[in-house]
Amino acid sequence: MPMAIETLLEEIAQKCVRCGICQSVCPVFAEVQKESAVARGKVSLIRKRLAGELEWSHRLSTYILQCLGCGACSENCPNGVKADDLILACRALMVEEKGLSLPKWVVFRTILRSPFLIRRLLGAGSLLSGFLFKKIPEESGLRLRFSLPYLDKERWIPPIASPFFLDRFDDSLTLPVAGEKVGLFVGCTIQYLFPSIGEATVRLLGRSGYGVKAPRDQVCCGLPAFGSGDLETAKALAARNMEAFDDASVHRILVPCGSCFYFLKEGYLRLFPNDPKVKAFSEKITEPSLFFDPVNLGQRQLGGPGPQPTIRLTYHDPCHLRRGMKIYQEPRRLLRSLSGVEFVEMKQPNRCCGMAGSFNLVYYDLSRRILEKKVQDIDSTRADGVVTSCMGCLIQLKDGLSRTKRKIKALHLIEALEGEEGPSSDSLTR
Ligand code: SF4
Ligand code: SF4
Repeated sequence: MPMAIETLLEEIAQKCVRCGICQSVCPVFAEVQKESAVARGKVSLIRKRLAGELEWSHRLSTYILQCLGCGACSENCPNGVKADDLILACRALMVEEKGLSLPKWVVFRTILRSPFLIRRLLGAGSLLSGFLFKKIPEESGLRLRFSLPYLDKERWIPPIASPFFLDRFDDSLTLPVAGEKVGLFVGCTIQYLFPSIGEATVRLLGRSGYGVKAPRDQVCCGLPAFGSGDLETAKALAARNMEAFDDASVHRILVPCGSCFYFLKEGYLRLFPNDPKVKAFSEKITEPSLFFDPVNLGQRQLGGPGPQPTIRLTYHDPCHLRRGMKIYQEPRRLLRSLSGVEFVEMKQPNRCCGMAGSFNLVYYDLSRRILEKKVQDIDSTRADGVVTSCMGCLIQLKDGLSRTKRKIKALHLIEALEGEEGPSSDSLTR
């Protein structure tokens, strides 16, 4: 559970000197230029709400929801104010006091909790695919033929997987154990949209001498619900995942998506503080750049043979990984170790891409304006590809890059590590 809102407000009252530094780093403020968009303004609104001076109006809810949760304000605050935590706590209070909006209630309280329902809905989406979507073959993606609620027709949409990742195996995916058996948490995006990244992870684990166990009854990590203040759904999903991975023979659980990783490792501890079982689960959670290193991967080649680099790559830091977990050197170390790759930094690699879960659905225009700045920074490096470690960022980057003149590929770190055997290297070679 987020820290008690009163505790956070008290801390802010003591620490915040209203210097406005948070304004200069907030990606939302940079676009809307209103005090209500920035941490300092939101703190003041939350204080008024708690004092009973403001009711939960549509406008107030919008101000509280128009935040990426990127943590740039907290990271740069000279006085250590955790404004992003306060905003999350306020969303939980909002749900407690006025309930979820109908679309969020349907998604979080029914669909997200039921893999059966998700399968049926996506299955129907697949059947209607020809009517709803047109293919963009060069991008391996889709665009809607017409806009739908929350889905603009300009948006790049990943094709629905068939079959879904975990359905490709009988009961649970269990590779013969050569060495240690590693749990694999795939999350919704790999399960339903990007099974190739799940398969690449399994191949990398196998080649590195690990067995794999990916239980079929794992569900959404719960972060989308938590980020919208629905702690009840987040807790229910967390409990199911911890049960699914309750296997004493699995000592590490690999989570390819940086945001799922953050939530399984840190978020579950907040949902269930002081619970030794949750602490033990959290200690097992790891992610690719912590798990793999250049030594256990062996020499990997991406791009053409020969000593000269043939591919230029840059890296986008997912907020949950960089600010949430302080993981940013490890993925770079892995990318620099790849033969055939020239690694270049973009300007502000830690600037949020604008995805932020439902923020991208509800405020697509704003999300896209934030994304355009990221795309410009990527393009300025003249890189052939941008690598990231979060599935949400990957979808967002693919959306932005589908509109650039110069062809730039977005890759998950796992795809880059897969090297020349990976499906993506051909299309990357200059
Ligand atoms: S940077 Fe920190 S101290 Fe300054 S206004 Fe923002 S929250 Fe307050
Ligand atoms: S978390 Fe990010 S988007 Fe939200 S107020 Fe802070 S800097 Fe702005």
